[in-house]
Amino acid sequence: MVYRSPNKNRQKVSVITLGCARNLVDSQKIVGHIQNKGGVVTPIDQADVAILNTCGFIEDAKQESLDAIVELIELKKQGKIQKVIVAGCLAQRYRNELLAEFKEIDALVGAQQLDRDAAPDEVSLTPGHYAYLKICESCYNNCAFCVIPSIKGVFRSRTKESILREVERLDERGVKEVNIIGQDITAYGMDLYRDKALAALLREMIPKLNSIEWIRLLYTFPSHITDDLISVIAQESKICKYLDIPFQHISDKILKRMNRKITKAQTYDLIAKIRKRIPDGCLRTALIVGLPGETDKDFEALVQFVREVRFEKLGVFMYSREEGVPAYAMSQQVPRRVKEERYERLMQEQQAISQSLQSRWEGQTVKVLIDQAHETEAGVYLGRTACDAPEVDGIVYAHVVADAKKKTPAVSVGDFARVKITHATEYDLIGEVI
Ligand code: SF4
Repeated sequence: MVYRSPNKNRQKVSVITLGCARNLVDSQKIVGHIQNKGGVVTPIDQADVAILNTCGFIEDAKQESLDAIVELIELKKQGKIQKVIVAGCLAQRYRNELLAEFKEIDALVGAQQLDRDAAPDEVSLTPGHYAYLKICESCYNNCAFCVIPSIKGVFRSRTKESILREVERLDERGVKEVNIIGQDITAYGMDLYRDKALAALLREMIPKLNSIEWIRLLYTFPSHITDDLISVIAQESKICKYLDIPFQHISDKILKRMNRKITKAQTYDLIAKIRKRIPDGCLRTALIVGLPGETDKDFEALVQFVREVRFEKLGVFMYSREEGVPAYAMSQQVPRRVKEERYERLMQEQQAISQSLQSRWEGQTVKVLIDQAHETEAGVYLGRTACDAPEVDGIVYAHVVADAKKKTPAVSVGDFARVKITHATEYDLIGEVI
C-alpha cells in the first residue's frame, strides 16, 4: 500500500480524505503505515505522492472523488507530484473502470484491503481532544438502497481486547471525547461473540477511563437496539445522551421496500421507550426521500413522523440510484424534481422544530468541549455540547467576557468549559463562559 522510495530518501506523502468519519479512521491507518515505513506526511504542495482516500457511497460523493482524482492527475502531469494512489470505497467499487479511465493512477487500494491491515492507532487526524474509535466494519443489514455491504464485504467486529487497548491508549493521551463508529455499531459482536455485545463492551470500557468524559455512539440500527443498550446509555454518565438512529422512513410499505427489518409501530415504540428511559436525550436521525414507490401519502406520513417525534437533529437525503443494489431495479423511480420538493419540505419542517427545541437552552448553563479559538474574533471559542457530534452538529460560540470585578475565566482548546447560553439559533448556541 505504501510507496517506498527506491533511493531510500524519506518519501513525502500527502493523504487526502473524502467522505465520512469511518474514512478518516482508515486514513489514520494509512498515515500510520507511511510513518512506520519511514515516510513523512506532508501537505499536497510538498508531496511526491498523493494518496486519495475516496468515498463511493452515493452519486454526489462519487463525483467529488472523481473530481479530486482529476485534480491530482493534473498535478502529476505538471510534474508537481510523482504518484497518484487511489484508496477507499470508490477504488473498491470501480476498480476496473478507474484503471481503464485513468492510466495515470499508479495504484488502487480498496476499502477491504485497508481494513485487513494492522491498525496503528497512535496516529490521529482529529484534534487531540477527540477521537473516533471504529469497532466494526461493513454491515449485516443489506438495506435495499445501500452499496456499503457490497463495497466493504462481510461484517466483522474487532475483538474486545483490541478495542479496549486502543481506548486505554486514547485515555492515556488525554483524549476527552471518543466517538464510537462503524456502519452499524449495534451489530457489534454478532459475528465474533454470536451476540450483540455493545452494551457489555461499554460496561467493561467505562471503569477504565479517566481523561475521557464523553463517549458518543454514532450510527446505530433501530432493530438492533436492545433494552440492555438503552439501560447502559441511561445509567452511565460518561455516555452522551445522544442517540444517532437513522430511521430512514416511517411508511410500512417503504420500510419493507428498504429492507429495514422494522415497522412503523415498532419504530414509534422504540422512540417512546428511549424518550422515557433517557428523558434528557437528544435524538438524531437520517431520512431518505424519493425511494422508488414513495407516494405522496408515504411522504406525508414521513412529514407527520418528523412533526410528532421532534428530532433534535435531522439529516435528510434524496435517494441516489446506485447500481448493484435491489432499489436500482425497482419500479416507480421518483423524478428528481419530486425528490427535491420533498427534501425542501422536510428541511423546512425541521427548521421550525429545531428553532423551537434550541430555544430551551437559553438561560441554561451547559458543559461545552472547546474545539478551537475563533479565527478572527479574540475572546471567542467554538465548542460543542454533549448533544453535538463533531463535524455534523451545531456549534457553541463561547464568549469570554472580561470582568473587572470577577476573575476572567480561562479557556483552553481541548478543555471543558461551563457556558451560560444567552441566545439560540436554529442549529447553533451563543453564550458566555462562566
Ligand atoms: S444499515 Fe446503513 S450501512 Fe448497513 S446496509 Fe443499511 S444503510 Fe447501509
